[in-house]
Amino acid sequence: MLPLPIFKYHRPRTLDEAITLLAQLGDKARIIAGGTDLLPNMKHGLVEPECVVSVSRLEELRGIHLERVPGGEGDRERLLVGAGMRLAEIAESLVVQRAAPALAEAAAQVGGPHHRAMGTLGGNICLDTRCRYYNQTYFWRKSLGFCLKKDGTECHVVRGGQKCVAAASNDSAPALIALGAEIELLGPRGERRVPAADFYTADGIYNTVLIPGEVVVRVAIPITAGRRSAFEKLRRRGAIDFPLLSVAARVDLNDGDEGQPTSVRAIEVVVSALGARPRRLRAALAVPVGSPVDGLPSALAEAAFKECKPLTNLDDDVIWRRQMVRILVRKAVARAACLA
Ligand SMILES: Cc1cc2nc3c(=O)[nH]c(=O)nc-3n(C[C@H](O)[C@H](O)[C@H](O)COP(=O)(O)OP(=O)(O)OC[C@H]3O[C@@H](n4cnc5c(N)ncnc54)[C@H](O)[C@@H]3O)c2cc1C
Ligand code: SF4
Repeated sequence: MLPLPIFKYHRPRTLDEAITLLAQLGDKARIIAGGTDLLPNMKHGLVEPECVVSVSRLEELRGIHLERVPGGEGDRERLLVGAGMRLAEIAESLVVQRAAPALAEAAAQVGGPHHRAMGTLGGNICLDTRCRYYNQTYFWRKSLGFCLKKDGTECHVVRGGQKCVAAASNDSAPALIALGAEIELLGPRGERRVPAADFYTADGIYNTVLIPGEVVVRVAIPITAGRRSAFEKLRRRGAIDFPLLSVAARVDLNDGDEGQPTSVRAIEVVVSALGARPRRLRAALAVPVGSPVDGLPSALAEAAFKECKPLTNLDDDVIWRRQMVRILVRKAVARAACLA
């Protein structure tokens, strides 16, 4: 069993206290929520904070509720989910299951029951990227001469590559992007809201736009009539593993007039666990408004197969992972469009 290094543990009572503490501690500190990713990474020597600041007591990070948003064309609604909510709570919430099925389905498929009981949405959103050459013990990595992401100068996935392409492995990320969510942050420079689609960068070393000391407080998901969503995941063991591929689809449907097939107002498909940033499928964004839903799952599955090329950053065979892009995109779009 790998031992944990020694560190100081802080457990502030309020969000303001946490922000002040994080600003004081600077790069000596890391935020901890459920610890299901941070602690294994500390054991492997991948992150070496002197202090950890727990956000688990912060009431400001709790809650799941619907909120009315007054607007020009009548009231709209949005779903607010606190970053401190456990994945099991999100998966089991009837409100999330109804308003944002892709997020409930993604949360339900993270790790195993213990990870979902401890792991939080905030921790999942900020999960470190993963790679077969990085998520290893210190001695394993040392024997290979380390790599760009930690302690080394080379990438073993893209030979001669100057950029880390470790895989975004957080299941909530494609779901939140597909659902058009906004991520609400509070930090030393105040509050800001970042669309989930702009939250991730293509840099596997640090793949989010979070600035030091910033805390994810909650996510806001817009709710629109006729909106449906679904999430699909490929993993080695259905009971526990990280994704080898994940797909979230969101379809905004127009009600079909009598005798007319149902058509789409908008569609978004996000494929993840390929590179450092979840990928928004270009072919889905280009689907014209009013297109009939029939035929979309197969058309988008073929387009996704052409657009997505998995790398050797994860353990399993890339040819199999690429073939599965086609299958999971077809399933996700068909379920979101109520065709399956
Ligand atoms: C065996 C195993 C299998 C797993 N399988 C999966 C899987 O299938 N899918 C998946 O997505 N994950 C998986 N995980 C990873 C992990 O369990 C989940 O991603 C979980 O949601 C992480 O949440 P946490 O609260 O435990 O995060 P922590 O470990 O506490 O933190 C993770 C990161 O987020 C940061 N952080 C936490 N909260 C905040 C916040 N509010 N604001 C800013 N930064 C924050 C921390 O500083 C840290 O960098 C697995 C882990 C293990 C050990
Ligand atoms: S993609 Fe390359 S640099 Fe990044 S973790 Fe893997 S081997 Fe290291």
